[in-house]
Amino acid sequence: MILDGKNEAQKIREEIKKEITILKSKKNKIPGLSVILIGDYAPSQIYVKNKEKSSKEVGINSQIIKYPKEVSERDVLKKINELNKNQNVSGILVQLPLPAHIDKEKIINAIDYFKDVDGFNPINVGNLASGYKSIIPCTPLGCLMLIKKAEKNLSGKHAVVVGRSNLNGKPMAQLLLKENCTVTIVHSKTKNLKIECQRADILVVAVGVANLIKADWVKNDSIVIDVGINKVGNKIVGDVSFDEVKKKVKAITPVPGGVGPMTIACLLKNTLDCFKVHLT
Ligand code: NAP
Repeated sequence: MILDGKNEAQKIREEIKKEITILKSKKNKIPGLSVILIGDYAPSQIYVKNKEKSSKEVGINSQIIKYPKEVSERDVLKKINELNKNQNVSGILVQLPLPAHIDKEKIINAIDYFKDVDGFNPINVGNLASGYKSIIPCTPLGCLMLIKKAEKNLSGKHAVVVGRSNLNGKPMAQLLLKENCTVTIVHSKTKNLKIECQRADILVVAVGVANLIKADWVKNDSIVIDVGINKVGNKIVGDVSFDEVKKKVKAITPVPGGVGPMTIACLLKNTLDCFKVHLT
């Protein structure tokens, strides 16, 4: 089973669009997403453009606030503060990475946690870790949705998450724990990485090393989710050797066309959810 993220994301976007149309006709309001983009890092420009395009398609009012890379931390914090207070802004996102003179932690902490559509604010991180209601980071949320396409009940499954970033690995592990999986997190210092991966019923790989996971690293009939995006020559590949691994497993995500489209769809979902919180 190839887990088609493109198709799933399309379905989610259609649902969001329908809901926004209904809310607009009832409340005469639409969700607003403000994206702060600092500097001219090319991948960030592309990500932000895609986010804007997708937002507009579903009826979210998307606004990109651009700053040159020399902008002061104070000015960015001031803008975040303004957006926090602006009732037309349901969600705020600061595109990472940031220039070295800007403290990422301060910026993330400054975003009102009810508008933190990335789910990176420590209050949302803490709520997720505590099993409380929280805004869930978009990529792990998209991964979980894809896993559930392959297997509805995850209780008792052994999940192995490769990578422990705040963006992907850690929230992914929390989500799987919440689903009653037995969760192992592995990283660059793990001994016997291959053996740990071989034990996984569900393997989520978020590393950034092209084709790290080979066929003999995975269990028969497991579910493999590949978060990695790596450029090899002119091609984009994941962290999993897709062609060899797909023959062995129950379900796998392709790269591109797997997790990537789900991330944006989940951003739109988080923005809509934040909007609904502010409506009540
Ligand atoms: P990151 O912050 O660099 O974290 C990478 C993690 O992988 C770290 O925990 C690191 O371990 C671990 N690692 C590195 N080399 C390893 C190895 N050889 N064996 C085992 N673990 C290793 O990266 P990230 O932000 O989580 O992103 C991971 C990948 O996902 C990247 O390719 C990124 O482009 C992609 N990504 C995709 C999406 C999407 O929508 N599809 C979204 C975000 C990111 P240590 O902690 O020990 O250093």
